[in-house]
Amino acid sequence: MVWSNLIKKGLSLRLLQPAVKRNFWSFPGKATFSSLASDVTLDRVDLRSAPLTTLSEDEEMMRDTVAKFAAEQILPLVSEMDRKGEMDKDLIQAMFDQGLMGVEIEAEYGGTNSTFFSSILVIEELAKVDPSIAVPCDIQNTLNNRLIRQHGTEEQKNLYLPMLATSTLSSFCLSEPEAGSDAFAMKTVAEQKGDYFLINGSKCWISNSAEAGLFLLFANASPEKGYRGISCFVVPRDTEGFDIGPKEDKLGIRASSTCTLNFDNVKIPAKNLLGELGQGYKYSIEVLNEGRIGIGAQVLYILNKFYSLALPSFSYQHDLTSFF
Ligand SMILES: Cc1cc2nc3c(=O)[nH]c(=O)nc-3n(C[C@H](O)[C@H](O)[C@H](O)COP(=O)(O)OP(=O)(O)OC[C@H]3O[C@@H](n4cnc5c(N)ncnc54)[C@H](O)[C@@H]3O)c2cc1C
Repeated sequence: MVWSNLIKKGLSLRLLQPAVKRNFWSFPGKATFSSLASDVTLDRVDLRSAPLTTLSEDEEMMRDTVAKFAAEQILPLVSEMDRKGEMDKDLIQAMFDQGLMGVEIEAEYGGTNSTFFSSILVIEELAKVDPSIAVPCDIQNTLNNRLIRQHGTEEQKNLYLPMLATSTLSSFCLSEPEAGSDAFAMKTVAEQKGDYFLINGSKCWISNSAEAGLFLLFANASPEKGYRGISCFVVPRDTEGFDIGPKEDKLGIRASSTCTLNFDNVKIPAKNLLGELGQGYKYSIEVLNEGRIGIGAQVLYILNKFYSLALPSFSYQHDLTSFF
């Protein structure tokens, strides 16, 4: 088969763009799968179509390509990255070069032009080898790229999507010291002052933040309106008054950076507001629905690995019990 020959030649996912237009569910006529993305309208699909566990030829090819990349380029670095608590910069760029960081971004913006399902396949394959490296891929594909694609103006898409697809890691900044599960209790404010917003507050446990160049920040622009004031802003790393704290020394996924961010009178131009003012709470709920599927893809393979490691010792105990 042609694709497997391509894989053998080590061609990247970016070259496999014709990719998959998978039918997710089977309903007569047109259906909107709102938990995926509000703008995804599914064409007529067939109830008899294959289950999600059965991959198409294109999907198998994509999975194999990513698995090969992970085995050859990630696996040799995993232990050292974990010990150092640091991600290899060349490896991050290699992930961009392979087209793994802009899976759904349209080709016109330099992305791989594939599907959400493909993003999840990519995340799974990376997590099998290193859950740390799956984190930036998950956050970029399921949260940040999606936010810009769905809510960005044409100007914002032209500016940010090529960066996100080819070179720039990003962070999703919602949680705060007293706003974790209850994220909408956030205290970070964005006070509008003419053509800019003044941001004050802090965020914590923000993944990718040691390496990221762009930060999608949720802050409240009208605290008197409660969560209906929460808005989303694009903050470049080098913005004055924006400070990124040291990395948390974590027990697991150590190579994936997790830092506290501080915003001290940070001036953000009004053109960096993403979507509508006061709609940030909706945007975050929507993308986190997809993000959770990505997290599930990572965890699935961590559990799978534990199971395969633990199984021999379980059967050993079982043998002992039967012996006595
Ligand atoms: C490695 C790592 C990476 C992260 N990356 C990011 C990131 O990139 N961006 C970001 O914004 N955030 C990130 N987070 C933050 C993460 O989203 C929060 O940790 C999570 O939302 C939980 O918040 P919390 O830790 O404050 O726990 P809490 O909200 O304090 O919850 C603690 C426990 O109490 C339970 N609980 C909470 N409220 C209730 C209730 N009302 N009733 C009953 N039980 C309740 C919870 O289920 C949980 O078991 C990250 C966290 C970690 C650990």
